[in-house]
Amino acid sequence: MTITTSLSGDLQSQVAKASRMLIGSDWVESASGETIDVFNPSTGAVVAKSAAGGAVDVDRAVAAARTALRGPWSTVTPSQRGRMIARLAELVERDAETLAQLESLDVGMPIMEARYIDVPFSVDILHYYSGWPTKITGDTIPVSFPHNFGGPYHAYTRREPVGVVAAIIPWNLPLMMAIKKLAPALATGNTIVIKPAEQTPLVMARLAELILEAGIPEGVVNYVTGLGESAGAALVNHPGVNKVTFTGSVETGKAIARAATGTLKRVSLELGGKSPNIIFNDADLERSIVSAGMAIFAGQGESCIAGSRLYAQREVYDEVLAGLAARASSIKLGPGLDDASEMGPLISADHRDKVLGYLDLSKQEGRVVAGGEAWGDQGYFVQPTVVTDLGPDSRVLREEIFGPVLSVVPFDTEEEVTALANASDFGLGAGVWTQDVGRAHRMAASIEAGQVWVNCYQAVDAALPFGGYKQSGWGRETCKESLDDFLELKTVVVHL
Ligand code: NAP
Ligand code: MG
Repeated sequence: MTITTSLSGDLQSQVAKASRMLIGSDWVESASGETIDVFNPSTGAVVAKSAAGGAVDVDRAVAAARTALRGPWSTVTPSQRGRMIARLAELVERDAETLAQLESLDVGMPIMEARYIDVPFSVDILHYYSGWPTKITGDTIPVSFPHNFGGPYHAYTRREPVGVVAAIIPWNLPLMMAIKKLAPALATGNTIVIKPAEQTPLVMARLAELILEAGIPEGVVNYVTGLGESAGAALVNHPGVNKVTFTGSVETGKAIARAATGTLKRVSLELGGKSPNIIFNDADLERSIVSAGMAIFAGQGESCIAGSRLYAQREVYDEVLAGLAARASSIKLGPGLDDASEMGPLISADHRDKVLGYLDLSKQEGRVVAGGEAWGDQGYFVQPTVVTDLGPDSRVLREEIFGPVLSVVPFDTEEEVTALANASDFGLGAGVWTQDVGRAHRMAASIEAGQVWVNCYQAVDAALPFGGYKQSGWGRETCKESLDDFLELKTVVVHL
């Protein structure tokens, strides 16, 4: 098939803005003048050139964020801050279609997913956090110092912004990732510098325009596009940054945690996964198979919570395997911006080649029952793939592939599958499908993962804690607990 690259005039003019970054009140090109090619993953064509920001640009952005922190932002009341975040939510909703198109073009995800998941969830997150600024409180604490210390005393705590936050984000769901960092940082009164992934800078310019339109003062939100090893590393090492919030791979997360020790920055990490999805004999098979297909194939499997390890109890294993193979084979691949596409391309040629390497390995280590090949003659497409008969040490079963590759494994007992599910360095998501209430709760308690979904999967909400056990990360996002990561706690003792 031939995939056309023609974009509407409006989209084209938005895309062209990728050559600039917002630093303070200035829309600037990189200080070095260098750029990075941005590819349309559906065709492999270059659609834009983004600014290749580096240490000089990061320095300016951090300075702008520090100035805003002490200046205009510090005089904005909690109520005003909440209203600005709510206004941003309204503007994202107003421009939903443009934002969805930018995301779909940039990531390759089907426009339907951008319209119904990425953008609406971003709006929800902003609305959720817009209510928080007026509810961030300290305590008054009765103290027991002896009176012969010359008391009495009045003691209380203040919860203050941590300062300048650096947000480093990945290429899947770039709008939602930026907002997951931005919303809690703003709600708690911080200022922020965002570095999008090198592959997906397109949505940031529009988002930044909306941030200014929402009345958020200049310098509160800045972004620097560029490479992780230059712009990203400069942020992590910068003495003017107080906290790093990162979403991405385990390897980069570890490098950031190590680098941040130089200045002992606060660090929170949302990392990868190899999430188990467990179907017991008594499950509603029809629902569980449909859901398990979406759990791995939504977003091309480029999802940190992808249900990439499917465990099916022996009695239903054949039916589950056949059902998932049939679903995989029926998925319609196509360019992100096509309304009819059910699955898009992978993000890049490099990533496609990495996933194809795992498909080769699947053929050696196991049996491929659906897919297994690249697809089409342009872009970075890979067929939705189902593989089984893998040994417990198979790399396909242990490593995060971050693509549309599902491993299906039979099991006999609850005890056995609990051990299999937990035999992973990751601990992000898990699904359990059963009608047995006791078993559902036993499994929910014994699985080592930040979220367990019973008779559902991928059920995320702005109010629910999201994050990982083990090497899937440090901290939680989208919940009241996330606020603590962006706040310092100060104790004040007053001699009366
Ligand atoms: P990545 O390679 O780790 O990159 C993430 C971000 O870090 C990018 O902006 C990257 O810049 C930057 N970076 C790279 N090296 C850096 C360094 N030394 N210092 C500072 N920043 C650096 O991850 P990815 O390949 O983009 O994304 C896929 C991974 O993200 C998967 O493992 C997935 O599971 C994880 N993920 C997790 C969640 C979650 O919430 N738990 C959500 C989505 C994705 P470049 O763009 O230049 O590489
Ligand atoms: Mg990368």
